[in-house]
Amino acid sequence: MVFSDLGRRLNAALGELSKSDVVNDEVVDGVLKSICKALLESDVNVRLVQELRGNIKKRINVKSLPAGPNGKRVVQKAVFDELCDLLDPKTQAFTPKKGRPNVIMFVGLQGSGKTTTCTKLALYYQRRGFKSCLVAADTFRAGAFDQLKQNALKARIPFYGSYTEADPVVVAQTGVDKFKKERFDIIIVDTSGRHQQEKELFNEMIEISEAVRPNQTIMVLDASIGQAAESQSRAFKESANFGAVIVTKLDGHAKGGGALSAVAATKTPIIFIGTGEHINDLERFSPRSFISKLLGMGDIEGLLEHVQSLGLDKQQNMVKNLEQGKFTVRDFRDQLSNIMKLGPLSKMASMIPGMGDMMNGMDDAEGSMRMKRMLFIVDSMTEQELNSDGLIFKEQPTRIMRVARGSGTSVLEVEETLSQVRVFAQMAKKMGGKDGILNQMGGAG
Ligand code: GDP
Repeated sequence: MVFSDLGRRLNAALGELSKSDVVNDEVVDGVLKSICKALLESDVNVRLVQELRGNIKKRINVKSLPAGPNGKRVVQKAVFDELCDLLDPKTQAFTPKKGRPNVIMFVGLQGSGKTTTCTKLALYYQRRGFKSCLVAADTFRAGAFDQLKQNALKARIPFYGSYTEADPVVVAQTGVDKFKKERFDIIIVDTSGRHQQEKELFNEMIEISEAVRPNQTIMVLDASIGQAAESQSRAFKESANFGAVIVTKLDGHAKGGGALSAVAATKTPIIFIGTGEHINDLERFSPRSFISKLLGMGDIEGLLEHVQSLGLDKQQNMVKNLEQGKFTVRDFRDQLSNIMKLGPLSKMASMIPGMGDMMNGMDDAEGSMRMKRMLFIVDSMTEQELNSDGLIFKEQPTRIMRVARGSGTSVLEVEETLSQVRVFAQMAKKMGGKDGILNQMGGAG
């Protein structure tokens, strides 16, 4: 089951609750049964699923639930929290700092996505103002250096490697020393993944590790190994306790849920997830954001981070507005036009509350057409309308008709677009202001 299916099924299970007139043991058991079935079919370990079920039951005392929607909310919150817990390793990973060399070493089996992910991560940090570079210490796989070189050139990231030196330890050390002298902040070392045997993989990892003394070692795991991620992650943790994990290929792999929960169960932090072959397809992993997105609740923090990281147009305005708890039609338009530049729409759309749902069942071409029509709509608005939060249309509905006519769309489509703006504006209100998440996080910038 791919993630969108899992999300749909979890939502459907929670939907059973909303539809029911009463909240009793039978209804709650039915909901939990559907949730557990969906998780098991996503390859989540039976033990973890049983634990989740037990924990949810413990958290909610069905007999003492308040009547009506509040009771349902208690159940929904318990399910949400426990789903987050399932993916939460409850450990902090190392955070690189600017102005000093942060050496990050990558390990993982061949084909796991190591080389691709190295470049993605270097670019991720580069976009955040770190001076990043890559060292290709995979001297075994023919073409590994060329692959890294090509990726690095495309992303304009300085790199080091050798066509003649066969000892990965020498290459790693030479590269790291060179870049340290040149005062790079993030030095990422890619190693060979030729060993199918973990023991050998770890031996080489330890040798390189002793030579370059990484601040962080990251293991790259392919989501398709599913629950087997638990043993790999455990073994890795035993030999390198400072490790963190990046799970790749989470775009549409049936066993993704199994891999993520299995790694979390070993208390190894999952720091990023790979969600596609494109260089931008790397997302910081946070259980709450991930589950919010999975359930179609949007992921504002993720969206903000993503937009900022890409250094796209006009985002400063939006960030400033969001900090004050505001969100205007113009912000929506800027975000729409940025989104259009970003490739797979479904992915970005899923970060915007309500938008994921709206795109549900549409392929990227359809979704893209829909977004284009929304852009036509906002482009037909006046300055005053763009700078508003959209309520002006409620007060003067003739504006809606004018915009529909001007953009060659329908009144319904204009209304739908405005309701998107409202959803976002409400989120912004919650997030901004001095008590909002953004300010509690120390500002969005
Ligand atoms: P390595 O042998 O571990 O260095 O693996 P590579 O970086 O060469 O990746 C192996 C394959 O996986 C390549 O075709 C990559 O494009 C692909 N790949 C890596 N990460 C992802 C991901 O997150 N999603 C998808 N769909 N493919 C990925």
